[in-house]
Amino acid sequence: MTTLERGFKTWAERTAASVRQELGLAEHDPLNVRALAEFLEVQLKTPSDIAGLPKEDLEQLLVHDPGGWSAVSLSAGGRAVIIYNPRHSRARQASDVAHELAHFLLSHEPARLVVSPDGQLVMRSYNSKQEEEANWLGWALLLPRDALLVAIRQKISTAKIAQLHNVSEALVEFRIRVTGIRIVQQRMRAKHAR
Ligand SMILES: [Zn+2]
Repeated sequence: MTTLERGFKTWAERTAASVRQELGLAEHDPLNVRALAEFLEVQLKTPSDIAGLPKEDLEQLLVHDPGGWSAVSLSAGGRAVIIYNPRHSRARQASDVAHELAHFLLSHEPARLVVSPDGQLVMRSYNSKQEEEANWLGWALLLPRDALLVAIRQKISTAKIAQLHNVSEALVEFRIRVTGIRIVQQRMRAKHAR
C-alpha cells in the first residue's frame, strides 16, 4: 500500500540526480551522506557528541524507536542536527542519515515536536506520509535508478553494487525491483540467451 502522490517517485529520482550535480558527482557515483549533510548545513552527531546531556534524558529522547533507534532530526540552538546510532553497520548508518536528510530536502514540517527535559533540544517527529516520502527519497538518494541501470548494464553483481554504494544487498534488490530495472535485466538476459 502506498500513499505516495503521483509523480513523487519521478521527482525523487530527479532530486537524487540534482543533489549529485550540486555535489559535483556523476549520476552513478556513490553518494557520501556526510558530504550531503555538510552541503545542507545539517550537523551529524552521535549521542555521545551531545555534551552535557544526562544519559537518562538521552534515553528518554530515543525511546522514539525502542527496538533499536536509527536516527532523529532535531534543532539544537537553532541549528539542524541529526543524531544517528553509531552502533549500526556503516550501510545502516548511511541509510538512517539519508532518510533524515530526505526530511530536510522535503522541507517536512514536523507533525510533532518533543522538547528535551532541559529545553535544549527540540526533536522533530513526522507523520506516516512524511515517513514514506523520506524512505523513498532516502533510498533514491543512495541508489538512484540511473546508477542501478549503469551497474546492471555493466553486469555488476548485487554484492558489488552494495559495496560500491555502501548500502545493504537487500536495498539493492529492493531498488532493482521497485524501479522497474528487474525488467531491463530480464530483457538483457533473454537477449543473451538467444
Ligand atoms: Zn523519518
